[in-house]
Amino acid sequence: MMENLSATDPIWENARDIFDRAAKAAVQSGRAPEEIRILAVTKTVPWERVGRAVEAGFSVLGENRVQEFLGKYPHYPLDKCSVHFIGTLQTNKVKYIIDKVDMIQSVDSIRLAREIDRQAKKHGRVMDVLLEVNIGAEESKSGFLPECLEEALPEISGFKNIHVRGLMAIPPKTPPEAQNDYYFLRMRQLFVDIQSKKIDNINMDFLSMGMSQDFESAILSGANMVRIGTSLFGGRK
Ligand SMILES: *Cc1c(COP(=O)(O)O)cnc(C)c1O
Repeated sequence: MMENLSATDPIWENARDIFDRAAKAAVQSGRAPEEIRILAVTKTVPWERVGRAVEAGFSVLGENRVQEFLGKYPHYPLDKCSVHFIGTLQTNKVKYIIDKVDMIQSVDSIRLAREIDRQAKKHGRVMDVLLEVNIGAEESKSGFLPECLEEALPEISGFKNIHVRGLMAIPPKTPPEAQNDYYFLRMRQLFVDIQSKKIDNINMDFLSMGMSQDFESAILSGANMVRIGTSLFGGRK
């Protein structure tokens, strides 16, 4: 039997809570609430509920998995939202998403940047990307090591069909009692350093960091893009 899910779905309340908390952190860090972009991270969430998040005010969706995304994409209300790819992306999958997303946040190698450039050229477009930084130098995570990022920039800046718009990171999990802004502040420093170099085709417009557990701390440390899954949609199985 079909139940009326939208009446009971906590997405509405969760959305309001997230917007309120992000706005407070923005103001506390000297910025307007509108300066912070909040992505709805949709992994494992059925497209019907993703649509409800869009109705609740989320206009950018964060996608992790190519296969799952391709299945849900035809049902997304694309006149009211755009899509950013935020998950690990194999070079041989770039071709499936190149015409469906507005930004790829998870560029973790020169090789991937080159393939995005190549596919974007085929489609006659320039793809906005963020460079993913493995700020905690964790074995289990992808991304440029901070000390390798700067040497990669000259080559990446030469790719004419991508436009670097900033940095993205998933910092190590810190215990609740720990100072959880250490890695965020290091990211902020890297962001400012690269910005000051004024490299052609490399712009530092977006600093994407902070998830359900820590997005306020990320905003206070300078993030202007946060990515929220669990706090919006509930826990994943
Ligand atoms: C899952 C995911 C998020 C959201 O994490 P939550 O803790 O559920 O808010 C953000 N960014 C990336 C890259 C993710 O994979």
